[in-house]
Amino acid sequence: MMLSETAAVAAQPVSVAQALRSDADQRLYDGVLRGELRALAKTITLIESQRPDHRARAEQLIQVLLPHAGHAVRLGISGVPGVGKSTFIEALGLHLIEAGHRVAVLAVDPSSSVSGGSILGDKTRMERLSQDPRAFIRPSPAGQSLGGVAERTREAILVVEAAGYDVVIVETVGVGQSETAVANMTDVFALLQLPNAGDELQGIKKGIMELADVIAVNKADVDAKAAARAKSQLEVALHLMRPTYPDWRVPVLLTSARTGEGVAEFWETVMRLWQMLADDGRLAAKRQRQAQAWLWEAIDAELKRWFRAHPNVRAALPDVEVAVAAGRSAPIWAARQLLAAAGVDRMRQHKE
Ligand code: GDP
Repeated sequence: MMLSETAAVAAQPVSVAQALRSDADQRLYDGVLRGELRALAKTITLIESQRPDHRARAEQLIQVLLPHAGHAVRLGISGVPGVGKSTFIEALGLHLIEAGHRVAVLAVDPSSSVSGGSILGDKTRMERLSQDPRAFIRPSPAGQSLGGVAERTREAILVVEAAGYDVVIVETVGVGQSETAVANMTDVFALLQLPNAGDELQGIKKGIMELADVIAVNKADVDAKAAARAKSQLEVALHLMRPTYPDWRVPVLLTSARTGEGVAEFWETVMRLWQMLADDGRLAAKRQRQAQAWLWEAIDAELKRWFRAHPNVRAALPDVEVAVAAGRSAPIWAARQLLAAAGVDRMRQHKE
């Protein structure tokens, strides 16, 4: 086969029999499609594994499950630790399963790879929701970079969708870059805010506010006046920002995850935007952009992994890093030498 033909395979659909080489994987595939929890959990474990053979199986499973995915409402929820995310998601999830939905909750918590402990917490979360067979709750994959965590979660979204969950909630902490990652894998992104914290404290950070399609001031039961004040402050701040959609003014709702107040309205609001985007094709276009961005992130990540694993690079890298840190080697010059050592030769580069 010519090299260009090999690459062309990437654009072809793959039959299930072609892709799944073992009975075990065929069973996982069948089990996921039947919505079996064990098969679902096992498949996600394969996805999160760092073992190359597990990854290979996971990628094949994702490829054949893909045609069965895509039917869910994908909702991202963020907010600072303590704002009430898990309480809120439990209230929302219970509301949704009562209404006949099947709800999957995934998490993106890169803190577990940095600090060793997770911000989203190892405490028992969403106790009632997690015991309900109509819900599936999966904590954040551990021990990976934000990029890795985000990629694994994106893959898990496809798998839970193939298993028949029609609402996928992706939770993340309101710190760092994780909101951007989650906004880039969901249809609608919601931000929970506290009623009583000052602007600096809860960081009405422009970047995060700009990602929000819906904002909820949670814990409105604690102090209704403070919540109303926070709502108008947020509305003022939103007025100063460029809207994501010209025909959608980001609503600021008052909610209480504890009493359930505002939770139904929150969902109606999310669905109003989702339906609006679905009806005129903007949702499909957004998902297409997300998939293409994901393609490039995957290529970047795999190239980097390949490069770092190259024996010549591994042998030279420690000294090169020291030389760059000490100012003896210019980073671009050193990078060029390492690339050449890995066989990526400037002279043989393709024409742009
Ligand atoms: P997370 O860190 O954002 O996931 O926040 P949690 O859901 O763990 O909530 C932090 C604390 O706030 C817990 O003690 C909750 O019981 C409490 N909490 C969450 N939502 C509300 C609410 O709407 N009202 C009140 N009064 N307390 C809440």
